[in-house]
Amino acid sequence: MDCLFCNIISKKQDAYVIFEDDSHIAIMDKYPIQKGHSLVMPKIHHEKIIDMSDDEVGKLFSMVPTIARGIMAATGADGFNIGQNNGRSANQIIPHVHVHIIPRYNKVGNLWTRRMITNDTDLDDLAKKIRKNMKSG
Ligand SMILES: [Zn+2]
Repeated sequence: MDCLFCNIISKKQDAYVIFEDDSHIAIMDKYPIQKGHSLVMPKIHHEKIIDMSDDEVGKLFSMVPTIARGIMAATGADGFNIGQNNGRSANQIIPHVHVHIIPRYNKVGNLWTRRMITNDTDLDDLAKKIRKNMKSG
């Protein structure tokens, strides 16, 4: 099966990686809703959260605070949303389970649907800054 995220996990496809361990990876979203928008995912391919064991889901979500701390410190965001979409009708574009961490800024609005066009230098710089600022609880 040709899955973009599996290709990123197996290094066949490039991405800006902000976190990686044996079972999870976090990357910058290539089409961010806001600056610093990142995705956390399990390395094992599951399409939806309901295809995973409770334990796997727990482990996935337990990665979120550490990564969010890095994003918040690196971006100076005022808050963040966690989003997890299942199925096309729910805005899931890539059929590989992932959790969105979307920084929010007081000075801008909060639309889900609007995406930005990024450039690689910006994503690379921000990924480095987030990695530097990551702290586990
Ligand atoms: Zn996959």
